[in-house]
Amino acid sequence: MKPGSFVLYEPSSVEQAAVMLADVAEHDGRIIAGGQTLVPAMAMRFAQPAYLIDINSIAALKRLVIERDQLVIGACVRHAAFHEPVTDGPLGHLLSTVVRHIAHLPIRNRGTFCGSIANADPASEWCLVSVALDATLVAQSVSGIREISASSFFLGFMTTALNPDELLVSANLPLLETDTRFGFHEVSRRAGDFAQAMALAVFRLDGPTLRNVRIALGGVETVPKRLAAVEELLEGQAFDSGLLERAAQIASEAVEPVDTTGEDIRYRRRLVRTVVIRAVKAALANTASE
Ligand SMILES: Cc1cc2nc3c(=O)[nH]c(=O)nc-3n(C[C@H](O)[C@H](O)[C@H](O)COP(=O)(O)OP(=O)(O)OC[C@H]3O[C@@H](n4cnc5c(N)ncnc54)[C@H](O)[C@@H]3O)c2cc1C
Repeated sequence: MKPGSFVLYEPSSVEQAAVMLADVAEHDGRIIAGGQTLVPAMAMRFAQPAYLIDINSIAALKRLVIERDQLVIGACVRHAAFHEPVTDGPLGHLLSTVVRHIAHLPIRNRGTFCGSIANADPASEWCLVSVALDATLVAQSVSGIREISASSFFLGFMTTALNPDELLVSANLPLLETDTRFGFHEVSRRAGDFAQAMALAVFRLDGPTLRNVRIALGGVETVPKRLAAVEELLEGQAFDSGLLERAAQIASEAVEPVDTTGEDIRYRRRLVRTVVIRAVKAALANTASE
């Protein structure tokens, strides 16, 4: 199928884009960034926006810089920008590990980090990373700039705290201490498919003791989330395999899998156990992913 007709705007500044969005948001106007989700949806007529605001000519949105201990990822930064570490230290390594799980190379060459965040697919790797690391998401409209923490950004299945007239201008990730370890594990049917379950474990080790533990899960519920009960169990404890088994059990009981894939709920809970165990083990072994 072919998309329906639409009016295309190509602003050259964020301010211009915000004015255009304010005009058309009420009339099914949308931002288009990489188009890797929106264009297929339009071709299938799942989405029929009357207006598209293409932000790709806005130079300010191509920023990928470190400012005040944060990595600032502008709205036009492509997934492929993370194939090689973009910073020294664990954050750059974490992003370059995770990006390999997103779709396929042609999609990564065009799709954007912020487009994934705005699209809020529950199985999006960047949404998981944003929640795990407490990203700050920066939105702009004609009314001004608003900073939203990732923990309050994802409201439900493909639903965010962005207002219809707000453009996501950047996702800001805090840099990680140099001794931070992380592990990521994803299960999907085939390479490049969306995750059936994925976990990101991030912590520091003080001898055998786990500190600053973050365990986040994606692809299972309608939004990615940190597993508070698992983090509490692990925090300040010396690692042993029994502790990890208990943590994985709590993780599998703490989730309510949504049936997006037609799979047995018990199977999804088992996947949760698996991805949590493997993510933590990868972090302990400092191998990033298993
Ligand atoms: C075959 C296939 C496999 C895929 N596999 C994966 C996968 O494994 N993991 C994964 O995470 N993704 C996957 N994707 C999705 C891909 O990563 C997209 O790039 C991403 O979801 C959206 O980014 P985009 O820049 O292409 O956004 P677009 O398609 O341009 O936009 C998507 C939505 O976000 C809105 N939007 C975009 N940018 C902004 C902004 N700055 N401010 C406000 N709203 C905005 C648009 O209005 C639209 O509603 C896959 C896609 C395909 C086609």
